[in-house]
Amino acid sequence: MSAATTPLPETVQRHLRPRQLFIDGREQEAASGQSIEVRNPARGELLTTVADAGPDDVNRAVQAARLSFEKKTWRGMKPSDRERILWNIADLLVKHRDEVAMLESLENGKTLREAMGGGVLAAADCFRYYAGWVRKICGETIPVDGPFLNYTLREPVGVVGAIVPWNFPLQIAAWKIAPALACGCSVVLKPSELTPLGALRLAEIAGEAGLPPGVLNVVTGYGWTAGDALARHMDVDKIAFTGSTHTGRALLKAAAESNLKRVSLELGGKSPNIVFPDADLEAALKGAFWGIFTNKGEICSAGSRLLVHADIHDEFVGKLSDRARKMRVGDPLDKATAMGAQVSEAQMNRILGYIQAGVEEGAQLRCGGERDTEGDKAKGYFVKPTVFSEVTPQMKIAQEEIFGPVLAAIRFRSPEEAVEIANGTMYGLASAVWTKDIRLAHRMAAEIKAGSVWVNTYNNFDSGSPFGGYKQSGFGRDLGGHALEQYTAVKSVWVAL
Ligand code: NAD
Repeated sequence: MSAATTPLPETVQRHLRPRQLFIDGREQEAASGQSIEVRNPARGELLTTVADAGPDDVNRAVQAARLSFEKKTWRGMKPSDRERILWNIADLLVKHRDEVAMLESLENGKTLREAMGGGVLAAADCFRYYAGWVRKICGETIPVDGPFLNYTLREPVGVVGAIVPWNFPLQIAAWKIAPALACGCSVVLKPSELTPLGALRLAEIAGEAGLPPGVLNVVTGYGWTAGDALARHMDVDKIAFTGSTHTGRALLKAAAESNLKRVSLELGGKSPNIVFPDADLEAALKGAFWGIFTNKGEICSAGSRLLVHADIHDEFVGKLSDRARKMRVGDPLDKATAMGAQVSEAQMNRILGYIQAGVEEGAQLRCGGERDTEGDKAKGYFVKPTVFSEVTPQMKIAQEEIFGPVLAAIRFRSPEEAVEIANGTMYGLASAVWTKDIRLAHRMAAEIKAGSVWVNTYNNFDSGSPFGGYKQSGFGRDLGGHALEQYTAVKSVWVAL
């Protein structure tokens, strides 16, 4: 029996009943009574429905968050208790990891392995990391002229609206919620309409862990309704966003046209993965392969532009394409699967459209390039791992974020040319350099305009290390101590002595 036909465990099926909003610590129906279908992209089947939140529902969630904030049910709690509760959330995520990872795999199409490591366990680690911060967020005393004591307080900004995408639903929700809670904020989370199930489970788990009602609320709904209502709400103090650059622009506008709430934006990328001839080429090959095909290419930091030095280009790209041809694409629940399904039919078609653009612009298709319909895959939305060579920097596939398993290989001849190509898009999220020359590595790290530079490695993340963009990849940082700046306001207090 294949993994696809094995009945789902009861612990997972429980969460596939029709789901409501999570407001003030309990499930609540949407005012409209409307719902949204949640589908399994690997099988094209309906998984369940969730409530379709409109502006009234968002308002209710914001009011619950506001009340909890003003009554200090969370921020007024002993810091050691808040630390313990954040730690409990992590423990419960780990305890329920099999069920939570399966939910994420089912709604997103990623492999169970990816949903575990880059989903539930990464989210748990993020809660643990910020549990450690709760008792360490403090102000300063400042030597000022005159008979005064001057000190600063770092206070929670208030009600945070967290709007997150579908590619790492749980991990990215944790990136916003954990630091916001560590700072004493209350939160309204708007997950993607495609992947709301993990967010609802997280809110339940947070309640079980001891988080008071109203401190974390989840509104499931579409971006242009629920997301927009949250972004324009006059009683939301901050929007923490991860998603596309297009939506990032809309959020800045919504903030400007409402209450000038703070906004932090983690947006798209077109990250260069640069390979010099002196690199450990076996390691670079692995880094280039997983740099693009991890999470079926639906990852903001994907190394979607492979810049290879002319001296090694042909052999390197040839080997990479051979490897991509052999990649095992299929049932995400099967442990042997290396790459799962794209998140939706629309996303698959978008990716196929980019592949067609690459062919039309004259890039050379080395492997893949089409939908994968072999066997059971015909029911779902699978794309074959695709590699293009002879790509020039101005082609559409070298400029725009495809968000799929499509690699654009570009030839370069000097470090200067590599930097010019690397910096030649509107994005600046991540990058990598492969070389054994330490001076070259550091020079490249300084010259590349990106929020992350990996040297002889790719896609490393840690809850303690900041992540975010340069240029139109956004501003503000998730993770590490830097994220706390997003969720605190600094107050200066003067005392005449
Ligand atoms: P998206 O921008 O379409 O949606 C993201 C979220 O915003 C969803 O919850 C959506 O419902 C909501 N939304 C959409 N329109 C809105 C509006 N007008 N007002 C308020 N909310 C709105 O992005 P996506 O397709 O879900 O995710 C893919 C994008 O996310 C890619 O561009 C990817 O690079 C980016 N991403 C960035 C990072 C990062 O850390 N920089 C991480 C993951 C994904």
